[in-house]
Amino acid sequence: MTENEGFMKEAIRQAKKAEKLNEVPIGCVIVYDGKIIARGYNRRNTDKSTLAHAEIIAIKRASKVIKDWRLEDCTLYVTLEPCQMCAGAIVQARIPKVVIGTMNSKAGCAGSVINVLQMKEFNHQVDICKGVLADECKEMMQNFFRNLREKKKMENY
Ligand SMILES: [Zn+2]
Repeated sequence: MTENEGFMKEAIRQAKKAEKLNEVPIGCVIVYDGKIIARGYNRRNTDKSTLAHAEIIAIKRASKVIKDWRLEDCTLYVTLEPCQMCAGAIVQARIPKVVIGTMNSKAGCAGSVINVLQMKEFNHQVDICKGVLADECKEMMQNFFRNLREKKKMENY
């Protein structure tokens, strides 16, 4: 297993925590100096908050650890391509590198719908590494939505 895969595994573990709460399984970790300093998972329904995405939660925690809003030497790992809000926060936090599990063709903002992470008009661009444990991340999402559809079907009987 590569180092990237090892950290993505931990992001997947975070995503499974979201899944246990019936949340869309998205997980994130932030690495500094070869160590995980912050973790987060999607808690949007649980917290009843638009802001409770995995990446935002992890960025908040990392800033507490680093004691700075700038996360200049950190790498963010996330199981799903970030949305516009999280991609914006990543740019604002000056995170230099993002490692993505699977892409999100309908809502992703690291190249799918738009690439907020690499707009030359902004003062900060982010290196992107895609497709790390992509199959595992994708299957986790597909299984979640399949189960959700089946639950809904059962409720209609
Ligand atoms: Zn997001």
